[in-house]
Formats: sequence, C-alpha cells, structure tokens
Amino acid sequence: MRRTALALIVLALAVPLVAQQTPGQIRPRPAEGREPEFKAPTIREYRPKSQLVTPQHPVPRAKFPVIDIHSHQRTPIAPDEYDRVMKGMEANNLQILVNLSGGFGDQLHRGVEALKASKYKDRMVLFANINFSGSVGPGFGATAAKQLDDDLKAGAMGLKVFKDLGMFVKKTNGDRLPVDDPELDAVWETCARHNVPVLIHIAEPPAFFEPLDYTNERWLELALYPDRRHQTGVRFEQLLTERNNMIRKHPNTKFILAHFGWHANDLTRAGKLLDQYPNVYYDVAAVLYDFGRQPRASHDFFVKYQDRILFGKDSYQPDEYPYYWRVFETNDEYFDYYRDYHAFWKLYGIGLPDAVLKKLYYANALKLTPGLSHAGWPST
Ligand SMILES: [Zn+2]
Repeated sequence: MRRTALALIVLALAVPLVAQQTPGQIRPRPAEGREPEFKAPTIREYRPKSQLVTPQHPVPRAKFPVIDIHSHQRTPIAPDEYDRVMKGMEANNLQILVNLSGGFGDQLHRGVEALKASKYKDRMVLFANINFSGSVGPGFGATAAKQLDDDLKAGAMGLKVFKDLGMFVKKTNGDRLPVDDPELDAVWETCARHNVPVLIHIAEPPAFFEPLDYTNERWLELALYPDRRHQTGVRFEQLLTERNNMIRKHPNTKFILAHFGWHANDLTRAGKLLDQYPNVYYDVAAVLYDFGRQPRASHDFFVKYQDRILFGKDSYQPDEYPYYWRVFETNDEYFDYYRDYHAFWKLYGIGLPDAVLKKLYYANALKLTPGLSHAGWPST
C-alpha cells in the first residue's frame, strides 16, 4: 500500500518534469536545483579549450584552382584595391572571382571597362543586378529585361538577385512583391535566352524567422543584428513556395540558389528540390557550418549531387577561405569555425574525392557560365 502511494508520487513528479523539458535540454539530474558556485560565463565568454588530441590538417590553399561564384567587390574596382584582392586570391588558389555586385547600366559598364583595363585578365567578372529602387508596377519587367539585355551584351556574365526580392521590394500599391510575380517573367526569360545563370538569394536562414528566445540556434546573431530579425511579416515557407513557383515556371532558366537555398540544414529537402527541378543548382556560400556538423550526410550529398553544387563564399575575407578547403578536402575532426554567431559548434571534414572537388571548385561554374575563361583548367 505504501509502496503504491510512493510510486504514484514519483510518477506524478516525473511526468511534468519530462514534459517541461525544452529542446536541447538533457534530462534533469538528481542534483537539479544546484547552482554553480561561481558566476556563470556568458555565451560570449565561455571558450572551452578542447582536450581532444587528433591529427590536424589545415588547408591554407585549395587543392585545385577555384571559381568563387559568389563574391562582392566594389564596382568599378580601383587598381590598388584589385591588387589587394589579388593577393588573397593567389594565396587561396582562387582563379576567378565572380563579383555579384555589378549593378546595371552606367555602373556596370564602367565596372566591365575597369576589369578590361586591369593587369589581371579574366580573373574577375561581373554579374548584373536589377534596379529595384522604387516600386514595381506594370511595365517594370519589360524595362528591367531590356536593361539586363544591354548589360549582358556589355559584358555581364549572369544576373544576381539580392534578398530584397520577396522581403522588401514593393509593388506600386504598397504590397510586397512576391518572388513569382509574373511581372518578372521577362527577366528570367532574358537569362534563358542569353544562356546565363541567375544567382538568386531568397529568404534568410530559417532560424531568423523563428522566435528570438533561448532555443533559437542563431540567438547571438539575432541579438547582434536587428535587421536580421524576421519574426513578423512574410514567413520562410511562403518565400520558398514563391521561389519554387518561379523555378517551375521557367524551366529553361538556370537558377543557382545562394546559400544552398537555405536547405543545408535539411539535406533531404535539398535533394528533393534538385530531383524535382533540373534547372536548380546551389552555391555553398556562408553555410559551411551546416556541412561541417553533419560530415557523413554532407559527404554523401556532395557525391550524389556533384554536378549541381558550386563553390561560393560571399563576403571576401581571404583568411576565411581555408576553413572551406579544410571541410571539403580533409577528414579532420572537431575543429573551429570562424564566426561564433553563425555557429557555436565545431566542424568536421567531409573528405571529398578529387573528381568531386574539381566540379565543386570550378567545373560546374564553367558549365553554367559560358562567358568565363575556359582555358587552362585541370582536366576533370
Ligand atoms: Zn551575397
């Protein structure tokens, strides 16, 4: 009798305890309620030095020459700035940098001329942009398509669309312009006609759309950057639905989804999208932390979809590229990432074979971007 009563009390205590656990929390221990004897460090202060001893293989320079399909530089670039950029390119074995911030019209033309006049032939190229300043009304698409046509003829090698589309660009009536708005059809079709890719950044990491509480994986980043908080307004899934409608409607246009389409955290979903739409490709820019925390799944994904993934880095920081080389080329374990607000965890190498590395580093970019210089690459 006493034993039954005790069991009931234990059960009554245990059930709510389990139910109250928040994501990521381990099961409470008997000493629950105990407080640290010393003031706990903040997440910025706590920097434990790993006691793990494993072989280290840093990769300061990529094994094969690389095309960075996702970079941002000033347009037009000044000669001394280009000298500085080139130093970092040489150190990393970056053969071609695709500057996605080419602009349009006069700026783009001056950008192309500056590169032509520079001493580094064919080492940097420009993608054009759409002029989304102001609102989008009837006729916008035709005008933008005409501008793009001129810009491609002037030497732009593709189109880059920034994340404003879907989140901030407005229609003349004040509504948000959906990514799949028919007004933009003429733009996507112009790229198909010229056989140049559209590198497009739609939405933001899924965590940016979730509540800013202590279960949010990007809490620190969101706390640091107010403009990355999207807890209200258009939702993540809505943006992806519109993006996929656009992709489906334009099968002859090649879309390189920046940042892995924000699916690097869900490779099953990433694979489904590639299976569904043969005109979709991914760049790996700024999502290294997701590959590096699931090395076995990433390895298999990069092998399976080796013709669909392009190297890109986004912000140009020469000392950050070696983290990419190390993840892609080695099987190193539990090493540091470079930005604490992207990821508070460690990375693992995914050890890609040479044939896959070559496609990731340059061959897929050459295939998608006919304007790039095709001479002098290692055979694949
Ligand atoms: Zn970018």
